[in-house]
Amino acid sequence: MLTSICGINWGDEGKGRMVDLLSDRFDIVCRYQGGNNAGHTVVNERGKFILNLLPSGILRENVVNVLGTGMVIDIRHLTEEAARLRSQGISITPENLKISDRAVITMPYHVLLDCLEEERLADKKFGSTRRGIAPVYADKYMKKAFRMGELLNPERLYARIRDIVEWKNLTVTGGYGHAPVTAEEVIAYFQEYGEPLREYICDTGLFINEANKAGKNIMFEAQLGALRDIDFGIYPYTSSSSTIAAYAPIGAGVPNLKLDRSIGIMKAYSTCVGEGPFTAEYFGEPAEKLRAAGGEYGAATGRPRRVGPFDVVASRYGIRCQGADEIALTKLDVLSGYEDLEICTAYELDGKRIAEFPFPDMLDQCKPVYQKVKGWNCDISKCRRREDLPKEAIAYIELIEMLCECTITYVSVGAEREAYVKFH
Ligand code: GDP
Ligand code: MG
Repeated sequence: MLTSICGINWGDEGKGRMVDLLSDRFDIVCRYQGGNNAGHTVVNERGKFILNLLPSGILRENVVNVLGTGMVIDIRHLTEEAARLRSQGISITPENLKISDRAVITMPYHVLLDCLEEERLADKKFGSTRRGIAPVYADKYMKKAFRMGELLNPERLYARIRDIVEWKNLTVTGGYGHAPVTAEEVIAYFQEYGEPLREYICDTGLFINEANKAGKNIMFEAQLGALRDIDFGIYPYTSSSSTIAAYAPIGAGVPNLKLDRSIGIMKAYSTCVGEGPFTAEYFGEPAEKLRAAGGEYGAATGRPRRVGPFDVVASRYGIRCQGADEIALTKLDVLSGYEDLEICTAYELDGKRIAEFPFPDMLDQCKPVYQKVKGWNCDISKCRRREDLPKEAIAYIELIEMLCECTITYVSVGAEREAYVKFH
């Protein structure tokens, strides 16, 4: 059984939290795209964890975790993240972590170029996480990247470094006027951070295929949401990889396998980190209230997240892109204590109402159309069954189901693993 867990919105929907909850039924959890620009916060009986590169299944003892083919891996960050988790009591060994030989390595010069470009753009910046993601994916498609499997054959790898460095310096020095990258520092970097990872590197496609044949349950964990997908998101304010469920088998290294189920993670209101159009956005006091209630500060960057009400137009589009069979609606507890809540049910473009998410360039001119719904005044964070929820909260969820034409199976009401309600 192959299941994908994917984001419906702009990211930070609580994917890590839902993977942590659902992974008890899975044997393998595989990340299939992106790099350490992800920030998943997971709270369970073992503590509070922040995961950037490692799949959220790493917190379960019986789960084998895979860093898939579609990923870009900052090996220094991975080393540090693994050390941090080990210090929190999590075991990470070649038995429970497998790294795809085809995954690409994010180099320090990718991080450097990401920062140099954001600085050059100044007030026109993209709001990059400055973790080198766009430069490393660009190199992948330029066929100038290093891949994890190369670490298994250092002689061949080191022979390639000079040519790559020479080419890279055309941009680093020639373009940005920065001090050049040297082959020696690249070699030293691989020796320090790459070589200790060798025992983890394998053909993860083969590993997942064999697990699938043996009837194992496999989960693909997305990083970021549909609206940050390179093709279907709010380009160019997107990430540089495919965050879409349909890409999961490819990014996991098993293009021959088909997904059985796609679970979309959708937030009960909207948040967005960084630049770009965000039609249903709150400003001023309403924004501060919602941001504070939801603790909306980025896990990877600490940046305050932009916030707004639930956006039906964007979420319907996200559900379509993800082919979501069912939805987990997260952070409903954050909306407690409002007399009235708003939902963005349509956009207004050139004086006309539109219900479908437009080509992203048009978003600047779109205005949100809000519908008022009744809020609930009590704390719902202790609710564990549907019937524990106040009727206004049930009505809010059912309205979203109706407007988004989706089935909401889980509703989360707190960050802790067990703080959820099975809604259907
Ligand atoms: P991800 O990137 O999609 O995994 O999401 P993040 O971890 O970046 O953001 C979700 C944040 O909300 C984290 O800090 C979680 O601990 C927290 N969280 C998740 N689910 C809930 C919930 O139901 N209620 C509340 N209050 N917080 C939640
Ligand atoms: Mg996040």
